[in-house]
Amino acid sequence: MSEEEGRLTRRSFTPAMRSAYDLVTGWMRAAGMVIHEDCIGNLVGTYTANRSAARTLIIGSHLDTVRDAGIFDGILGVMIGLAVVERLHQAKRRLPFAIEVVGFIDQEGLRFGSSFLGSRVLAGSFDPAALLLRDDQGVSVADAVREFGGHPDLIVQEARRAQTLLGYLEVHIEQGSQLERMNLPVGVANTIAGISRATLTFMGVTGHAGTMTMDQRHDALCGASEFVGAVEAYAREIPGLVATVGELCVAPGARNVVPGTATLSLDLRHQDDQARLSALAHLHWRAGAIASERGLSLRWDEAQVQAGTTMAPELRNRLATAIGAAGHTPVEFPSGACHDASVMSGITDSAVLFVRCKGGISHNPAESVTLEDVAAAIEVVERFINELAG
Ligand SMILES: [Zn+2]
Repeated sequence: MSEEEGRLTRRSFTPAMRSAYDLVTGWMRAAGMVIHEDCIGNLVGTYTANRSAARTLIIGSHLDTVRDAGIFDGILGVMIGLAVVERLHQAKRRLPFAIEVVGFIDQEGLRFGSSFLGSRVLAGSFDPAALLLRDDQGVSVADAVREFGGHPDLIVQEARRAQTLLGYLEVHIEQGSQLERMNLPVGVANTIAGISRATLTFMGVTGHAGTMTMDQRHDALCGASEFVGAVEAYAREIPGLVATVGELCVAPGARNVVPGTATLSLDLRHQDDQARLSALAHLHWRAGAIASERGLSLRWDEAQVQAGTTMAPELRNRLATAIGAAGHTPVEFPSGACHDASVMSGITDSAVLFVRCKGGISHNPAESVTLEDVAAAIEVVERFINELAG
């Protein structure tokens, strides 16, 4: 279910996403679930409880992907939730709580540069300004939601009431190699790193590559390059800090023109929010210093995407018990990648179960998990649910 021939790219609210929904909806129905799409367009399958006024356990992850993605990031968590409900349905068992399997419409944010449009709606932290974001074709989030069948004006009503929820569980490929190193199929996240992002533009003077002498130049790309090097060097010095420049756009962008503008992205993560914010401040200062040394001007726009979060101790303990009961050693470690669980922890107890992935590779078509590890994850979630029901 991809927008691109020969590689997996499934952005939010696209026909490829609709095909994925159609497929997953069929599987959810077959597993005894009642389906609905909420106002932003999240896909929700409900396996009702054996009594009325029961609370709800949400098992979810995202169905959108990055560009040229692997086939497990996000979708694996939805499929494992589905598999667990399928088994309950086959055994004709209902639990004292409802299970909702949720496929979030937008976590990676590839299409709109957004973040967590889906889970923020459920968590009640959706910023209506996000509806104004536009994709590269000029289509707004609001229009995309509408065209997909959602109702952008009613989004605030989708926020769940905390007292109706039992918790949120997300199964996700680890996207790191700790489990591989420890030779374990699954593990538990104790904290999830916060993220800050900035967009920087260095502005200089465009000129002729042949006639503008070196001493006349204020080359925007040379300033940006110096900054990229500085980011890497700084992040190497600060324990626990990861910093990435993943986008760089040069204008006018011709081989015989001295670059007049260079725009780049900065992504900063650290398990400690204070360390992340002071790193951000330092790099802001550094960018300014580079610009002024080179006679460039600098534009700096920053945003905190997500604060660091601690996963719910009670759910972590229950997961650890389930892992032990399934015959594996329970381990906990921090997540460097951000997940919908960070957002959901704003409204309910949340936890993440990681599944080992080959070489820690993710956001890459080489993403790989084994059948045995997925089976282990399903068993752990099953035990977790049974214990919760008990
Ligand atoms: Zn993911």
